[in-house]
Amino acid sequence: MLNFNQIKTAIPEFKATFTKLKQQSVIDKYHNIEKSLFSLFTSNSYLELTIITTEQCNFRCVYCYQDFQSVKLNEDRAYSVIRFIEKSVESGLRHLHISWFGGEPTLNVMPIHKIGNAIKKIQLNNNLVYTSNMSSNGYLLSKNRFNDLLNSGVNHFQISLDGWQEFHDQTRIRKNGQGSFYRIWKNLLCFRSFKKHFIIDLRLHITQKNIDSIEVLVKNILKEFSKDHRFNVMLEEIKDLGGESSASQLVPDKKIKNRLTHIKTSLLPMKRPFKSAHNKICYAAIPRHLLIFPDGQLGKCTVMLKDPRNVVGKLEHDGDVILNKEFYSYWIRGFSTLDKQDLSCPAKHLPKIFDGVERIAVKQI
Ligand code: SF4
Repeated sequence: MLNFNQIKTAIPEFKATFTKLKQQSVIDKYHNIEKSLFSLFTSNSYLELTIITTEQCNFRCVYCYQDFQSVKLNEDRAYSVIRFIEKSVESGLRHLHISWFGGEPTLNVMPIHKIGNAIKKIQLNNNLVYTSNMSSNGYLLSKNRFNDLLNSGVNHFQISLDGWQEFHDQTRIRKNGQGSFYRIWKNLLCFRSFKKHFIIDLRLHITQKNIDSIEVLVKNILKEFSKDHRFNVMLEEIKDLGGESSASQLVPDKKIKNRLTHIKTSLLPMKRPFKSAHNKICYAAIPRHLLIFPDGQLGKCTVMLKDPRNVVGKLEHDGDVILNKEFYSYWIRGFSTLDKQDLSCPAKHLPKIFDGVERIAVKQI
């Protein structure tokens, strides 16, 4: 077992590999990973946490892979997270990033405020930069809740839309079977009146079937938000990755791609530049990233949520993080191999089973 603060000592071999490949110019040529980024992602001064506040969701999207268990991150575990952050600051943490994830994170905002307020107090006596974002379906982001989240340090939101109302309501269905578009759109319009800084990434899912609806949606987005630089648009085309549940019928064909090119051009003023190097490395591959489940177990990937291979350790009550070095090393192997695939999706080619580990079911306390 390895304490999280000892990771740095466990990775000198990565640094040696990196230096060697850098000397041979292999990295610059094949891997868009810079030395400064490499150092940051392996340093005690940086920590990236993805925290699942609840596995519950108020939606039942037709393509969702989650199973909506009732486990929520409770006050006790929020305290453990705070202790972990305090200990990390004592060990040199200077830049903390937290992504709030679910289920639907707005169904349990208590830990977001508790941890956010604790971080503010830590910042009074320490040189700590805190950034935070949230993936939300946007339905419960009322004016008051949005304001509270901004005050707790969450100012970057990713909200997904599947088209204009008629199409969106067929796929992004609420738990009670009703549509969700109207309320989300109303919330988005309302955010414009805020004076504070925030970023909203509107993530539009493009399939073979929804292109008409996406065109209507984009027209309205441009009308309502193009003058507000805090709103951005991300287009996500469904891709056929060749698995058993092949999505090939939904993959946009050539005709649709032509229409997409037109949409992309119209949206150019609303596209936020991103750092390409970071974009090619999945957070699951980053040594200083951990996923915190509501029951205190620690993982890496936000897709393989029920896979026992995605349990790399445990957050103790007193804030100590205990990692299984072997499992954890599989996930961060990209920082040793510098293989493109290992860096961009370490979930691929994991060993079939890690002996003796089970994702322990924990009931809500
Ligand atoms: S499936 Fe791959 S790319 Fe997606 S979060 Fe998991 S490791 Fe990263």
